[in-house]
Amino acid sequence: MVKALVIGDPIEHSLSPVMHNVAFNQAGIHGSYEKQRVTSEELDGFIQGFRNSGYAGCNVTIPHKVSILPYLDEIDEEAREIGAVNTVVNKNGKLIGYNTDGRGFLLSLKEKITKPLTDLSILLIGAGGASRSIAYALKKENPKQFSIANRSEERLRSLLRDLKEERIEPLSLKRAEEDLSRFDVLINTTNAGMYPEVQTVPLNLHHLKEDAVVCDIVYNPLMTRWLETAKDKGAEIDNGVSMLVMQGAMAFEKWTGIFPDTDKMKQIVIEQLRR
Ligand code: NAP
Repeated sequence: MVKALVIGDPIEHSLSPVMHNVAFNQAGIHGSYEKQRVTSEELDGFIQGFRNSGYAGCNVTIPHKVSILPYLDEIDEEAREIGAVNTVVNKNGKLIGYNTDGRGFLLSLKEKITKPLTDLSILLIGAGGASRSIAYALKKENPKQFSIANRSEERLRSLLRDLKEERIEPLSLKRAEEDLSRFDVLINTTNAGMYPEVQTVPLNLHHLKEDAVVCDIVYNPLMTRWLETAKDKGAEIDNGVSMLVMQGAMAFEKWTGIFPDTDKMKQIVIEQLRR
């Protein structure tokens, strides 16, 4: 029996249990995945009990992605660089931390693009936690041009300092809007458009390139106003369900050694979100 769970606070609306339980079924693995509310004050106690709990691992979400780091026995290089963990493997009481968010996004992006990333100009919008994971994964792929735009300049500068990659171009949102025709791929990692702020967009798409790929990592709603506009302009679009599923599938593989059926996982997540 393989047991895993997701911890965070709040956690009631987490889609991870349905997604991983479908993955166990599809893979023919006798397993179970639960959610548990763990507050910041409870994290220490949770970790103490977790080591010898028999759980194969856990996913970690807000507010523990950074605060869990000192409790881990080993942290994989990418998670260490990003400075945050979303997946923990429990190897006989030894806790190993990973971050599958950025690589998960990359897997989903690669399903949408037809050219290698080395031939594409990418605009990443946002400089928060999700942007950070995606930026690390993207910079390793050496895109032809890589620009990041954010509302707060200070947060953008801080991300660029940590990324230690001089070729990444910082942009204001206004400048990014004006220069939009330069980019083949746009990725929104901001909260703009997320429920209940459904009318907000991260930036306007007046100058969108004709055959651009436009990704929004927001998945509630499934179709943000921004994605709707991009679609109307003829762009190839993708919502945040793909990243959610791929980061989950990569965690699942770490616990079980099996990469699960992501189509089925996507289907159940979409069903839940439509309810
Ligand atoms: P975060 O660390 O709080 O960062 C939020 C980012 O959004 C910051 O760059 C912030 O800019 C920007 N922002 C917020 N409201 C904005 C607005 N109205 N206009 C322009 N920029 C705005 O949050 P996060 O953890 O990175 O999460 C961001 C989004 O990604 C959330 O919607 C979350 O649900 C989604 N997400 C999806 C997945 C997935 O698997 N699909 C995974 C993780 C996160 P400032 O720096 O200027 O404040």
